[in-house]
Amino acid sequence: MSKRDFYEVLGVSRNASEDEIRKAYRKLARKYHPDVNKEPDAEKKFKEVKEAYEVLSDPQKKARYDQFGHADPGGFAGGGGGFDADFGFGDIFDMFFGGGRRSNPHAPRKGADLEYRLTVEFKDAVFGKSVEVVIPRTETCDKCHGTGAKPGTQPETCSTCQGTGQSEVIQNTPFGRIVNRRICQVCNGTGKIIREKCSSCAGTGQVKRKKKINVKIPAGIHEGAQLRVSGEGEPGQNGGPPGDLYITVYIKPHEFFKRDGDDLVCELPITFGQAALGDEVIVPTLKGRAKLKVPAGTQTGTEFRLQGKGVRRLRGYGEGDLRVKVRVVTPTKLTAEQKEALRNFSHLCGEYIKQEQSTNFFDKMKQAFRGE
Ligand SMILES: [Zn+2]
Ligand SMILES: [Zn+2]
Repeated sequence: MSKRDFYEVLGVSRNASEDEIRKAYRKLARKYHPDVNKEPDAEKKFKEVKEAYEVLSDPQKKARYDQFGHADPGGFAGGGGGFDADFGFGDIFDMFFGGGRRSNPHAPRKGADLEYRLTVEFKDAVFGKSVEVVIPRTETCDKCHGTGAKPGTQPETCSTCQGTGQSEVIQNTPFGRIVNRRICQVCNGTGKIIREKCSSCAGTGQVKRKKKINVKIPAGIHEGAQLRVSGEGEPGQNGGPPGDLYITVYIKPHEFFKRDGDDLVCELPITFGQAALGDEVIVPTLKGRAKLKVPAGTQTGTEFRLQGKGVRRLRGYGEGDLRVKVRVVTPTKLTAEQKEALRNFSHLCGEYIKQEQSTNFFDKMKQAFRGE
């Protein structure tokens, strides 16, 4: 794996000041922090930014990097020395931003996002529809207003951690004294002790409820599209904003039509006579019927385009097309009279189709397969 240049990662010049490097780092760390940025490669980018800053913010490491680049014999740029294995992102965030975010159990926190899979009818995806979905989600208990304490009582401040929700463990190591902060075991990091629990929520301060939400499916939505309903996720903590609700839309298949982007595609069987002589046929569309002119001499598999009979474009204007692929159907149950007519027809085409010849042909095929 080739490593990107640390200056390039932070987007600063080689003679950037300490202050400029720190500012660039803070900006990028906020942008890519996995708690904030849900893009799939955000975590990777965050690590990259962090690693670059670790080196460029340290005058000694920076000097070595400027001299040797990634090929440094000391190997500091190798992999962070097991740093990530021992610390969560929250810890790293705190270290660089002066703490307080994780260590304060009373800080406002955004609620979790919720995901919901919604399957809609083919037509509803084409024309759009308002759909009511029922989301099971957590809400603040209205008996205790989220405190978890029995109504009329209040939670007490945890005496073990003085309400900070953390306990400090001091370790003496060959590298010096390390202060490890752990979640307080007595209050589980809440900083509070509830003597008498609220009976509605069993002291959690939250209850599970089913919430009905009206979701507008836009006309022309595609399979797998995600709709975001702002503020309908889990509630925030300590006055933080609620999370969002993400609805992934799946479309039921249609017996006759298929979607190809904004186009509708269907297959239309026609007879040999229609294909050979040409005809005007009726084609079903999602908005009633349409006429299609099949020219004389049409081959099976030929595709015709009915403009604007497809799906409303979600982005842009107008509608897609309806593409009709014709399939010439060979007749199977023929009357003696029809057979006679077809023989005459073949005869006129210069073909001589004889019953005996066909039998001979199949006998020869069988022999060929037996290897005789
Ligand atoms: Zn405590
Ligand atoms: Zn309650």
